[in-house]
Order: sequence, then structure tokens, then C-alpha cells
Amino acid sequence: MPPSRRPGSENTRSKECWFCLSSPSVESHLIISIGENYYLALAKGPLVEDHVLIVPVEHMPSTLSMSSESEVELCRFQNSLKKYCKSQGKEVIFFEWASIRGTHANLQAIPIPSSKAVMVEKAFNLAAQKMGFKFLSKNFKFVLCRNPWRHNSAAPS
Ligand SMILES: [Zn+2]
Repeated sequence: MPPSRRPGSENTRSKECWFCLSSPSVESHLIISIGENYYLALAKGPLVEDHVLIVPVEHMPSTLSMSSESEVELCRFQNSLKKYCKSQGKEVIFFEWASIRGTHANLQAIPIPSSKAVMVEKAFNLAAQKMGFKFLSKNFKFVLCRNPWRHNSAAPS
């Protein structure tokens, strides 16, 4: 359910937000593809080669706040990235910092060598344990992907 908006607040946010396409601060040279609800951009400070972001076109705090209709497009972007990474001998990890104080969502897509993909879930869980929290699996109401680990783990092929 999208949050309610105050009139005029959209414009203020767009000007200040790095991820709003209408913002003067948007770095258009990093944009790879623009869809109806999401766009794909190269990470400004990539962790690895081909680190990309899937970003909602609309100013939304997390991809969980997006409509169920937009989920189809998100899955298409994710599947395209999976196929591309596969062709490079890699798997792709998707994760997102989702917070109620979030500003503009960006789902990170990080390619890793296929040989290391099996260890990712363990590594995430171990890191969480050290930090004193636990990852939980969540069944989404509108899951159109086969991938139940959409937000915090490696994508199985
Ligand atoms: Zn924004």
C-alpha cells in the first residue's frame, strides 16, 4: 500500500533525491534501462564488477511498498540479470536495505562466482548471528518469481 502523500512533497523530494529520475542530481550516465515501474542503473560505488541497482521509478521507501503489478517487471529485470550473470559463470545476489525511514528504494544486484553461491546463505546467517539478529523467510502475497530469497540471499538458478 503506497504511503499517503502531502501535496507538493513529491517535488521537494525529487529535487533532493539521487534516485528520482526527475531530480537534477540523478546521474543519468549510470542508467542502463528504464521500464514502467523500475529502472536499472550501475552502482556509483560498485562492490564488484557489474554491480547494478534496480530502482523504483517512483519515490518509494522499499520495493515492498510497490504495487503487486510492478512485481512482474521487477522479476523481469531480476531474471535478465540472472541470465546475464549465468553467461559470465556467476550467480546474482539481490538485497535491499528496507527501513521505515527509507527514502528511495534500491535493490542491489551483486554478481558472485557460481562456485561460491552455495555459501552465501550460510555467510548471511552467520553475519546476522554475530550482529545479534536473524534473517527470516517471508512468503510474499504476490510472488511471481520462483526465487523465495528475493531480498537477502543468492538467487537459485
Ligand atoms: Zn526519490
